[in-house]
Amino acid sequence: MRLILLGPPGAGKGTQAKMLKEKFQIPQISTGDILRQAVKDNTELGARAKTVMDAGQLVPDDIVIGLIKERIRQGDCKTGLILDGFPRNIAQAEKLSETLQDMNLAIDHVIDLEVDEGEVIERLTGRSTCSECGTMFHRVSRPPKVAGVCDGCGGKLAQRPDDNRETIEERLKVYSESTAPLKEFYSKQGSLKTVEAKGSVEEIFSLVCEMIE
Ligand code: ADP
Ligand code: ZN
Repeated sequence: MRLILLGPPGAGKGTQAKMLKEKFQIPQISTGDILRQAVKDNTELGARAKTVMDAGQLVPDDIVIGLIKERIRQGDCKTGLILDGFPRNIAQAEKLSETLQDMNLAIDHVIDLEVDEGEVIERLTGRSTCSECGTMFHRVSRPPKVAGVCDGCGGKLAQRPDDNRETIEERLKVYSESTAPLKEFYSKQGSLKTVEAKGSVEEIFSLVCEMIE
């Protein structure tokens, strides 16, 4: 099964993608995670990407498309894949279709996680992530037992540098201008499924599963 998760920042793409990965045993590919890892590793790519990410803008298409092509060709993607954060504009979507076609593959479902803007801002400004295991917490909806410490592994919690008010607003603007048009793009292809991403993580997950099974 090959899936794309669409939706604004803070819609819960990463959370749902991790759950889908466990359930269906297929790899989750997040361009955001790949780029953040490159920043952490201090690679040349990371250095280029960091300024753009901190400003809430999109990393140039040639870079992310290159990353995705390389990743999709790896053996573990034979059984399926979950794309989370890619494609983010029409150009990326067209390149993805080409790449998959060359491999005789296709996307089965595009899941659009719908959340309103106020909710997104509330989620993003309150969230923190474990620097060791990646588990996400939220000041209000999922506070850690000890402030600043991961319940699961004891790792230190950190806020993403782009989860500040100003950058969030820019990310939302980029989303509505560049990414939201993908809904029509995939709707025309008949693969778009819309899920109202309200309620608990588990509730949303069962709606997502209903859409694809
Ligand atoms: P979110 O969806 O919460 O904004 P992501 O982790 O998906 O977060 O992405 C974080 C940042 O990484 C984006 O704001 C952007 O700068 C960069 N990025 C991630 N995926 C892409 C992509 N497909 N194309 C361009 N830039 C990307
Ligand atoms: Zn942890």
